[in-house]
Amino acid sequence: MKVELLRITKDAEKIIELAARTCYDTRHRLYDRVTEKFLHNLMRAGHMSVFEHAWATFDISGISRACSHQLVRHRLATFSQRSQRYVREEGFDYITPPTITGNEEAVSLYHQTIGAVQKAYASLLSLNIPREDARFLLPNACATNLVMTANFREWMHIFKLRLTSHAQWEIRELAAGILKILQKEAPIIFGMFKLNQDNVLVEPDVSV
Ligand SMILES: Cc1cc2nc3c(=O)[nH]c(=O)nc-3n(C[C@H](O)[C@H](O)[C@H](O)COP(=O)(O)OP(=O)(O)OC[C@H]3O[C@@H](n4cnc5c(N)ncnc54)[C@H](O)[C@@H]3O)c2cc1C
Repeated sequence: MKVELLRITKDAEKIIELAARTCYDTRHRLYDRVTEKFLHNLMRAGHMSVFEHAWATFDISGISRACSHQLVRHRLATFSQRSQRYVREEGFDYITPPTITGNEEAVSLYHQTIGAVQKAYASLLSLNIPREDARFLLPNACATNLVMTANFREWMHIFKLRLTSHAQWEIRELAAGILKILQKEAPIIFGMFKLNQDNVLVEPDVSV
């Protein structure tokens, strides 16, 4: 899996602070060095719409279709994903879950089955079956790549849902990778989100 930040709102935390200070007519305090306390108070108070003024776009590759299917359920984010209608997928890359890698018998069955699907897919194409129909054979394991954009409020919401012990391992790994990048870019806001060694959020308790 690879996650790369493509674009982020410049001076994101300042823009959010400026927007929020508009509500209280305190823009003259914009450079008072109280940003951290101010932004954290907004989060604790649930004044979350101000966090929609900043956006971040990521290039995500090497995740399974099983993972991307979960990701695209986040309706307030925007996605552009590699198409299995327009792109030929013979010899497709695929993701192997760690539980399978760790089991000799399972791993052999897994690779053999994927190999058989790859062959069958190529055979359908050679029989002039269009890509959009040949893709019916393709598994959830198929690797995909996509560009994803969301505002900061939505990123926080995604972290709350996907960085828990209930979330599937791959989307949790992805969410943790994105969070770590955002923590460097907007440390006051995303520094609030603390992970344990299993990529499960231990803080904060904000309603996002
Ligand atoms: C652990 C886990 C297990 C899951 N299991 C399943 C499953 O078995 N089957 C399944 O189908 N899905 C499952 N999901 C997906 C889940 O139901 C959501 O579709 C997904 O997490 C997106 O969440 P969301 O709707 O809050 O987020 P987003 O789509 O990102 O929306 C963000 C927020 O905007 C608001 N919002 C967006 N659209 C609307 C709307 N139309 N009406 C009102 N408010 C709206 C809501 O407050 C929402 O929380 C699972 C998710 C998780 C985290």
